Amino acid sequence: MTKKFNIAVFKGDGIGPEVMAPTVAVLQALSERFSEFSFDFHAVEAGAGHYAKTGKSLPSESLQVARTADAILLSAMGLPEIRYPDGTEIAPQIELRMELDLYAGVRPVTVIPGQDSPLKSADLSKIDFVIVRESTEGLFASHGKGEVENDETARETMVITRTVSQKLFDFSFRLARQRKAAGTGVGKVTCVDKANVFKAFAFFRKISEEVGRNYPDIELDAAYVDATALWMVQKPHVFDVMVTENMFGDILSDLGAGIMGGLGLAPSADIGDKHAVFQPCHGSAPDIAGKGFANPIAMILSAAMMLDWLGYERDVPSMITAADIIRSAVASVIADGPKTRDLGGTATTGDISAAILAACEAVRETA
Ligand code: ATP
Repeated sequence: MTKKFNIAVFKGDGIGPEVMAPTVAVLQALSERFSEFSFDFHAVEAGAGHYAKTGKSLPSESLQVARTADAILLSAMGLPEIRYPDGTEIAPQIELRMELDLYAGVRPVTVIPGQDSPLKSADLSKIDFVIVRESTEGLFASHGKGEVENDETARETMVITRTVSQKLFDFSFRLARQRKAAGTGVGKVTCVDKANVFKAFAFFRKISEEVGRNYPDIELDAAYVDATALWMVQKPHVFDVMVTENMFGDILSDLGAGIMGGLGLAPSADIGDKHAVFQPCHGSAPDIAGKGFANPIAMILSAAMMLDWLGYERDVPSMITAADIIRSAVASVIADGPKTRDLGGTATTGDISAAILAACEAVRETA
């Protein structure tokens, strides 16, 4: 029997629509090959362009479609020249995290064979870890609430709660278990904090230890964020699942994307108890928007994460097979070309998208 999934599609701003179109095409093609699942894609409006036209960045109708969808695909959003009156950028993706309680920001870091990484000394094939970025509180709890007093003193307040931290660590230990079972991880969680300086982080670390007692099969480790940044460059293979506060996670995710070879390759997911959003790590890249050479791979790999998540959550194993097909197809395109400009090539978004679609087809024949 075919399970039908409603997918909310936020095509976003800048290069957003350019990378979303081929992603939907890949998902559509895969759903036509597997009888176990199919998709209804629902295009929804949000973002800086929509705000400029209507004064609303995340209309309530769009939020409602997202709430009732089985999963949400979201491309990059925000444009530097379109801002709220207080000067901050339009970021419906942050509002969605808060509205839908998407507390776990999952950012996998791997170097696809054949991909050049700025890291030369490490054994690149051993780099396979996941940053779990808390995505609803931390320093971002202050989003839209910061104060500047008399043009002299500015304040933003970080918030760490027991409820969210417990769920976050539970999620991360389960992920470490899943990775250990799949052979992609060794079964280790590292709490990344600044517990030597801030009470909030000592509290965060304490909760990691409390939750860790329920997972005796998983090793718990802790590291300060500054040392973690160093080790991500010097010995990235020591990490498996890394859990951290929102702002630290924001920064370390971009470092992770750099290790992978660039933002155009880095996928991500924001996951809660009931909802999940899948979006690339990169922004709307206004400098290259409309020029036809945006790299769609980060968005397409985010869609693979969506297939994994739906496959596990709704018990549809062929969706997990389809996710593996996407990853293999991307790996073969990385190895054999074509490449977009961010990866040193000259190919267009259309060239890469066609190559990935063709490679998906080829992988299926031997799967
Ligand atoms: P945000 O703060 O919204 O995440 P950002 O300031 O990190 O955005 P991006 O929009 O991600 O900036 O772009 C950073 C650089 O990376 C830009 O030069 C952009 O052209 C490039 N870039 C980002 N995504 C892609 C992509 N998919 N393909 C090619 N280049 C990209």
